[in-house]
Amino acid sequence: MVNSDQSTKTISLEKYGIKNAKINYQLAPETLQEITLQKGMGKETNNGTLAINTGKFTGRSPEDRFLVKDDYTKDKIWWGPSNKAISPENFDFLQKEIENYLSNKELFVRDGYVCADPKYKMNVRTVTEYPWSNMFVYNMFLRPTEEELENFNEEWLVLCAPGYACPQPEEHGLRQGNFSILNFTKKIALVAGSAYTGEMKKGIFTALNFILPVEKNVLPMHCSANVSEDGETAIFFGLSGTGKTTLSTDPNRKLIGDDEHGWTSENSIFNFEGGCYAKVIDLSEEKEPDIFRAVKPGAILENVIFKKNGEVDYMDSSITQNTRVSYPIYHIDNIKVPSYASNPKNIFFLTADAFGVLPPISKLTPAQAAYHFISGYTAKVAGTEAGVKEPQPSFSACFGAPFMPLHPTKYAEMLSKKMTEAGVNVWLINTGWSGGPYGVGSRMKLKYTRAMITAVLNGDLGLYNYDDYHIHSVFGVAQPRECPGVPSGLLSPRATWNDDKAYYDMAFKLANSFRENFKQFESYASEEIRRGGPQRYGY
Ligand code: ATP
Ligand code: MN
Repeated sequence: MVNSDQSTKTISLEKYGIKNAKINYQLAPETLQEITLQKGMGKETNNGTLAINTGKFTGRSPEDRFLVKDDYTKDKIWWGPSNKAISPENFDFLQKEIENYLSNKELFVRDGYVCADPKYKMNVRTVTEYPWSNMFVYNMFLRPTEEELENFNEEWLVLCAPGYACPQPEEHGLRQGNFSILNFTKKIALVAGSAYTGEMKKGIFTALNFILPVEKNVLPMHCSANVSEDGETAIFFGLSGTGKTTLSTDPNRKLIGDDEHGWTSENSIFNFEGGCYAKVIDLSEEKEPDIFRAVKPGAILENVIFKKNGEVDYMDSSITQNTRVSYPIYHIDNIKVPSYASNPKNIFFLTADAFGVLPPISKLTPAQAAYHFISGYTAKVAGTEAGVKEPQPSFSACFGAPFMPLHPTKYAEMLSKKMTEAGVNVWLINTGWSGGPYGVGSRMKLKYTRAMITAVLNGDLGLYNYDDYHIHSVFGVAQPRECPGVPSGLLSPRATWNDDKAYYDMAFKLANSFRENFKQFESYASEEIRRGGPQRYGY
């Protein structure tokens, strides 16, 4: 594999104020794995895959994510609870703190880049305190060739110091000791007090979600993507756990990427990353063979529990529900190289509706597509968060509000325009509950969701004639009556409930949650988009 040998180049970190560090530059992933084991920071599974624990944090900490508010960003960013501001002075202080903390230590440095389309390539240098954090960066960012490495000029710098926590957080604009901060002027990302790897990944994603639309006229998207043999692209938007990684990993289509993409004005889409970051809770070879087999040496498992024989017990969520694996994209057999393709023909909005009221598949009009994109609906179920006993609706604009520095309508306008120009079809897929809400019904079987998506991609769900579909009386979306490979009884959610009254009560409840959430966007949305929402809110 490219660049799996250690580099002979030497670099210094003095220019960043990191003094007297023992620098391990661009180590091969095998070497990083060995060092991790030697330091007692990880274990190997019986197939030789590295498994580590991320410590106190097993997920991102969105409340401790800040963006530096300065002349460049103050009028551009949509400040609020998902984009918290911090002053340049506080940033400078914390940067110094981290530089001092990292000085005199053994460190791991990796040069890589993001954005697979050469036109948008952005070089990133990452300095990590832990060897396995550096191996994660090898897996997730794009890997430069020897030649690219020779002439490498870093544009962004990521400093990752999980062992540092700010002792007086309130005095420096923080909530608590750990933090994740982006400075767009200095082009530096700080991650401290948390070893959760997703902080680095989603930090750079957030940076691109600002830079690409503001400076390069590219629409950044929280979506996965794949492409057929004859070059027809599909993309899948959705919040965490709705199925982006699972459904884009399709042996019959070439994987472009599982989480972050850009849509250019040259009619193409490209992956930001060089790897995938899959959930592994309840992972089985039978249901998800490609992801299961990607867990091999080179991959990094996070927060999993072992059985006695050294096998991973994927059913065990005793550390967290959010058990994960990162692997370089080439661990999947059928991939698109390089990771870009032409305009999508189909867009899927994935939602895990725990109320069991949205149809498992429906087609959206352009106005409905805009409405649902701005709403970004999914549901949270009991178990994943403390105190959540029954399903709760969760709305996250653009299916990724925590990563979107600009106002949601900025991304929505770009998407609407691109969708119209490209003439795409937009589908709403409920990968959540059927036959009743969480606790009563059951989650839609993966094989049926896959069959629905395959039917769309094969052109078997045209919905050309009025008789082919039914307009949902509450949500107004077009629900197909038949779909190859799917029992027809599953296509109408109401029919799966066996209790019309209970179904409509729940549907109205969800429709009202949509209305309540959309109020904040009403003044920005056109009359047409507002009409893309639910059609009825009660009897
Ligand atoms: P993230 O943004 O956190 O990476 P994601 O959108 O990529 O999340 P996945 O990792 O694909 O989400 O997680 C979907 C989970 O739901 C998987 O564990 C998958 O096995 C499970 N699942 C169960 N039923 C379905 C279904 N019908 N469709 C998709 N996924 C399903
Ligand atoms: Mn994913």
